[in-house]
Amino acid sequence: MRIGIIHNNEADSLRVFRDLKPLLKKKGGIEIVERDPELVISIGGDGTLLSAFHRYSHQLDRIRFLGVHTGHLGFYTDWRDYELPELVDSLCNDNKNSVNYPLLDVIVNFSDGKSQHFLALNESTIRKGTRTMVCDVYIKDELFERFRGDGLAMSTPTGSTAHNKSVGGAVVHPSINAMQLAEIASLNNRVFRTLGSPSILGPDDWVEIKVKSAGQHLVTIDQLDISGQDIASIQYRIATEKIQFAAYRHMHFWRRVKEAFIRED
Ligand code: NAP
Ligand code: MN
Repeated sequence: MRIGIIHNNEADSLRVFRDLKPLLKKKGGIEIVERDPELVISIGGDGTLLSAFHRYSHQLDRIRFLGVHTGHLGFYTDWRDYELPELVDSLCNDNKNSVNYPLLDVIVNFSDGKSQHFLALNESTIRKGTRTMVCDVYIKDELFERFRGDGLAMSTPTGSTAHNKSVGGAVVHPSINAMQLAEIASLNNRVFRTLGSPSILGPDDWVEIKVKSAGQHLVTIDQLDISGQDIASIQYRIATEKIQFAAYRHMHFWRRVKEAFIRED
């Protein structure tokens, strides 16, 4: 099996990386590679897994991901740093099982007519640094609302526990093929009106946010941000691609939510 390893540069992650390599090499049939891995092991926190995802996002159909947690929150990770021997044993009894989670497809259209395509594992947001962001929200090419406020966030189910949760969005089980639009500090008064609650959209929906305010807007796609370019609109739909997590031992979603937000058993 061809295995790629992505780690952050914190001391614990470097130690896990150093310990894991010889354990993998001792088992026959495992090759550590950078190009065309079948399995990508991320060592660190969620940020590290997001980086691993973006690094290999053009090969999602061929790659399974697995996270080893070294401190931080580690919502996405299934293995702790003290479980390396068990992890390596389970790789050798590979059952090729995986669980698939939905992703968000993002097209950013710039005012100069160019556009750029992205996939997000957590979410994409659009905001304005200063003054009120004004935009028209279209659902399936029909004007839904004129939004005024700080910004909007569109999240995947697995991203629903990330930024989305901080802005009052619902936690969504990743077996639901959905994307969630949440408001960031919307302006609501007698004059201006938005829906005012998060909306969960389905696989046949597409959303376009047409920017009306002048000046610079900031678009994020997971950890990536796009600024310094004039943005005209941004289009969201549920991606046809999915992320596959190796399911040697996959912690079920609600236990993951409990351990991240309520208590660790
Ligand atoms: P970060 O600042 O370290 O991330 C913030 C926290 O979110 C970290 O504790 C991170 O876990 C956790 N996290 C990331 N993805 C998660 C998920 N799907 N479910 C639950 N928690 C999650 O930055 P980062 O590690 O590069 O992660 C980028 C993400 O941070 C963005 O996609 C966004 O969702 C989130 N974020 C949240 C806010 C907010 O809540 N106000 C603001 C900015 C960004 P680790 O400690 O394991 O990395
Ligand atoms: Mn982080």
